[in-house]
Amino acid sequence: MSNKVIIFSAPSGSGKSTIVNHILKLHPEMEFSVSATSRQPRGSERDGVEYHFLTPDEFRRRIAEDCFVEYEEVYAGSYYGTLKSEVQKIWDRGHVIIFDVDVKGGVNLKKYFGDKALSVFIQAPSVEELRKRLVARGTDSPEAIERRVAKAAEEMTYADRFDYILVNDDLQAAFAEAEETVDKFLSV
Ligand code: ADP
Ligand code: 5GP
Repeated sequence: MSNKVIIFSAPSGSGKSTIVNHILKLHPEMEFSVSATSRQPRGSERDGVEYHFLTPDEFRRRIAEDCFVEYEEVYAGSYYGTLKSEVQKIWDRGHVIIFDVDVKGGVNLKKYFGDKALSVFIQAPSVEELRKRLVARGTDSPEAIERRVAKAAEEMTYADRFDYILVNDDLQAAFAEAEETVDKFLSV
């Protein structure tokens, strides 16, 4: 069971956080990989819980010191990355790692971990539905929503580079499909 990792990627608004949180609740042996980011904390976010918040200078220093498994400039000026130390910490506890990263990060993590990894692409039924969900979530400005939607079209083209594509239409059905896929991967 140890040393396995599960990677979830999706365009923003597809339901990735909702599905990841559902899976984490069911599996005490799984642990969420806390990424580092150079963006500012939002709302109630705490350092070391949602993210390790670094200044842009600190982030660049860690890049130079080869501290990351992968990193991306997901939005202009905002870096996000998976720290090697985070991966090791979770494996030392014997836990399965869950990653929530952007689609490029997902492809890179799959390359890095190979057969140890299951990579899942979560897909909203359509771009229009994705826009509706972002509006309903109410966490982004109209401009930010349009930016995320515009980016989604390009991100969708990465889907076939993942081990599994999970279409999140009916949420209960998506939960069941995610559970089944994860259980199958962990059982072999
Ligand atoms: P992501 O992490 O991919 O950005 P979220 O998990 O935050 O997406 O989901 C975006 C919004 O859509 C949230 O408000 C969430 O409650 C809602 N949502 C998720 N899945 C569904 C679904 N199957 N049907 C309708 N709304 C959904
Ligand atoms: P947010 O700012 O909304 O928390 O996250 C923005 C995006 O960054 C999401 O798509 C999220 O999956 C992605 N992300 C978070 N951590 C990482 C990481 O470590 N690496 C990469 N490549 N993307 C990440």
